[in-house]
Amino acid sequence: MTAQQAPTRAQFDDVMVPNYNPANIVPVRGEGSHVWDQQGREFIDFAGGIAVNSLGHCHPALVRALTEQGNKLWHLSNVFTNEPALKLAQTLVDHTFAERVYFANSGAEANEAALKLVRRYALDHFGPDKDQILAFHQGFHGRTFFTVSVGGQPAYSEGFGPKPGAIDHLPFNDIQALEAAISDRTCAVMMEPMQGEGGIVPANPEFIQRVRELCDQHNALLIFDEVQTGAGRTGTLYAYEQFGVTPDVLTSAKGLGGGFPVAAMLTTAKIAASLKPGTHGSTYGGNPLACAVAQAVIDEIRKPEVLENVAARHQQFRDGLNAINDRYKVFSEVRGMGLLIGAALNEDYQGRARDFLVASADAGLMCLIAGANVVRFAPSLVITEAEVAEGLARFERAVAAVTAA
Ligand SMILES: *Cc1c(COP(=O)(O)O)cnc(C)c1O
Repeated sequence: MTAQQAPTRAQFDDVMVPNYNPANIVPVRGEGSHVWDQQGREFIDFAGGIAVNSLGHCHPALVRALTEQGNKLWHLSNVFTNEPALKLAQTLVDHTFAERVYFANSGAEANEAALKLVRRYALDHFGPDKDQILAFHQGFHGRTFFTVSVGGQPAYSEGFGPKPGAIDHLPFNDIQALEAAISDRTCAVMMEPMQGEGGIVPANPEFIQRVRELCDQHNALLIFDEVQTGAGRTGTLYAYEQFGVTPDVLTSAKGLGGGFPVAAMLTTAKIAASLKPGTHGSTYGGNPLACAVAQAVIDEIRKPEVLENVAARHQQFRDGLNAINDRYKVFSEVRGMGLLIGAALNEDYQGRARDFLVASADAGLMCLIAGANVVRFAPSLVITEAEVAEGLARFERAVAAVTAA
């Protein structure tokens, strides 16, 4: 295609359902932490496909895994098992609390499976009255109707008719509210160890430990949604390792596939037993291409130098963003874990996170927002020191432009 025949952003509005409003540029190529658009403009990528491209764009190990598997076997369905799925499940079992794995294609689907599992487990072991699911305001668990209803943003779940029931929401990090709400009727508590879409808000260690205790006391299962925090993003394979709290069910997606759609739900053998043959399923879940790529992702991110880079770049981001803030006074706080970092805007810039994102794109930087008041950074876990330095310099130009306007 010549440049003139190439599709344009303007076409989006003619052919796509208007549920997204993508930026004006159309990226066409990526390599590591760099992306180029149709006009050949280069960008540093601090967005990582929304915390998905855990190893940047077109990482050689991932390209190799995808092409090797692509020449072997693409798909079978779950009528047959396959080698990449078995190997990946074994790897996840070997390196987490889990004893059993269920594969899906997206975070929402892994969470849907987790929610159906905890309901079925409660029914099997305690009867039909134990059905309450407790979750948190500002939590995000996906866009299927069950997961979006468990998520804590009514704007996303309302307007679609009657919602699934027995779901209650509580303030995050509020021990008293949880103590008051939880009971023997509670079937499960679902939470992100650090809320991502909700604004990069880590759970307090005392809170998360109390959640575990209260779940144990009331025979409720604890689901950690690690769709965004998992796969090395926070500096350990899964974030729960850093809280000293083990969930009963954990979901992983986003970074797990490094850009290839794949998700996993992890749990124990005892709990898994409630999803007997026929109770749940997915045509694509455990697809060989997806599992081969995810295997390569896990093999890479488990390398000590990758997790060490996450910690070093975390500090570089914190120092760099704090230095920018000293000069421009735009943030109330820089927070986060590993390479999932939020810069919360201060009172003078409330509601303007998107302005910083747009100005960043103009300065040659892709970044994210988490709500209207937080600029979010989720770059590749193998981004280099020089790339972070250059990206932060571009971000400073964006901040200068927003504050000058
Ligand atoms: C992105 C996200 C999801 C949804 O994942 P999809 O792949 O978009 O379905 C669920 N939970 C959390 C914590 C997420 O960040």
